[in-house]
Amino acid sequence: MHKELIHLTHEDVNMQTMVLAEELQRVYKEQLASRTGLRVYGIPRGGIAVLYLLARHLPTIKPVNDPYNADILLDDIVDSGSTMERYAEKYDLPFYSVYDKNNTLPGAWYVFPWEGTALQSADDIPLRLLQYIGEDVNRGGLRDTPMRFLKAWNAYTSGYGVDVADLLRTFEDGAESYEDMVMLTDIPVHSHCEHHLAPFWGTASIAYVPNGRIVGLSKLSRLVDVYGKRLQVQERLTKQIADALCKHLEPKGVAVVLKCRHSCMEFRGIQRAGIQTTTSAMHGIFLDNPEARAEFMALAK
Ligand code: ZN
Repeated sequence: MHKELIHLTHEDVNMQTMVLAEELQRVYKEQLASRTGLRVYGIPRGGIAVLYLLARHLPTIKPVNDPYNADILLDDIVDSGSTMERYAEKYDLPFYSVYDKNNTLPGAWYVFPWEGTALQSADDIPLRLLQYIGEDVNRGGLRDTPMRFLKAWNAYTSGYGVDVADLLRTFEDGAESYEDMVMLTDIPVHSHCEHHLAPFWGTASIAYVPNGRIVGLSKLSRLVDVYGKRLQVQERLTKQIADALCKHLEPKGVAVVLKCRHSCMEFRGIQRAGIQTTTSAMHGIFLDNPEARAEFMALAK
């Protein structure tokens, strides 16, 4: 979990629901006073919880089971807005929510009282996926899978919170006179493609020619890991590694080559195993000087 967590209490949600109740009272005054009342469809599951809460403040609202019979749609929170767009478009109805992230904290992850812990609030994501592929989510082997899945994804994406400037703090001690290429090969790459959320993996070769500043060698593989543990495409991952070294080391040249296998290609689509995708990024003398580049490419083989 790399977002700011906001644990809402019953009191928080109730206060916000009262604000919404006042707004609805203003907009739907007549309808709320009429015999039919205001018919509200709560979007599962959070919308239903706040619908019951809202009914305490507006006793004449009527929860309906079918959105086609509703006057308005209600949800607990507008997140990316995609749920709202989907429903509002399909049913052509006004959409209300108790919380709207766009008005408050766009980057935060809200946990409602009925969702339990942050992990529990997210675990219907893998649960729904299992249901989507037709699995029985109650069978023994799958019981803890949603939680394991989320924990694994925390690890797969642990690079988001890392400050690269801090990671690449350089030291000049002993580096003033070193003007030759520093090169690491066979650095492990583990990442996930942002198009399919599928793993891709392989190796990186990194070289730079210092200009008075060097970093610890382990920092190079750590840098690959920090950018790899984010959603990526291989091309961008390669460029980000090279750009970070340029920016923070200001070397005479940087060269990065990545060779990776993509499970989204091998497990589906063309389904041919062992195909490697090679990407490279060159800066400074590796770009300008063909000999330096040739030397690097020979060593990177
Ligand atoms: Zn992919």
